[in-house]
Amino acid sequence: MFTEAEGKSLLSAFGIDTPQGVEVEVGQELPDHLREPLVVKAISATLVHKSDAGGVRVGVTRAEIDEVAAQMRESLAAAGHELEGLLVEEMIPAGHEIIVGAVRAPGLGWTVMVGLGGILVEVFEDVAFGLAPLNESQILDMLHELRGMKVLEGARGGIKADIPALVSLISNLAGPEGLLASLPEDVQEIDLNPIIVSDTRAVAVDARFVVN
Ligand code: ADP
Ligand code: MG
Repeated sequence: MFTEAEGKSLLSAFGIDTPQGVEVEVGQELPDHLREPLVVKAISATLVHKSDAGGVRVGVTRAEIDEVAAQMRESLAAAGHELEGLLVEEMIPAGHEIIVGAVRAPGLGWTVMVGLGGILVEVFEDVAFGLAPLNESQILDMLHELRGMKVLEGARGGIKADIPALVSLISNLAGPEGLLASLPEDVQEIDLNPIIVSDTRAVAVDARFVVN
């Protein structure tokens, strides 16, 4: 397993937008360049779904970090995990939450899944699949298969998502020269959940690399 920070620096090496962030030990001072509001995430080798164990706090100020860390240590301990450090990130402004996942399909390469995050994926299973390598027009076709595409396009006065930024993010992942094509065999699965797509950018705020 890669740490979230390692996964994100790999994404960013392939041109995928990620939040600025730093891994620190509890109590360690933050570098000056990190701007509030902050997001604080628990680092723990045994923790997969961080928020389920109280391991994510958004909208945190620098002054609050030690307090937040103390609360995280307790809630993680209650769920059987040890707090090993913190990933402190800039908070990306609200947008649509998109999920992109990729799984190695034996003999076929990578299966890529895209869906609208939150309730749309969990309840309505509104997802589309493709096989990497995907070019930009195939990626756009996948997005148009989603029933929720209208939501991304700003239906009912919502945010009009920067679709080209999302397409280019997915292309940097699953295109012919993308990250997937360069991964060592032992990486079996990647989850970018979520990607926050606003009217100006698409940012992968969570990254999970599953290694066998
Ligand atoms: P989990 O391990 O629980 O999936 P995430 O890293 O996905 O943890 O964080 C949980 C939620 O917090 C995300 O779905 C997103 O809504 C929000 N979030 C996480 N990181 C950021 C960030 N840098 N900026 C804004 N929101 C964030
Ligand atoms: Mg997540």
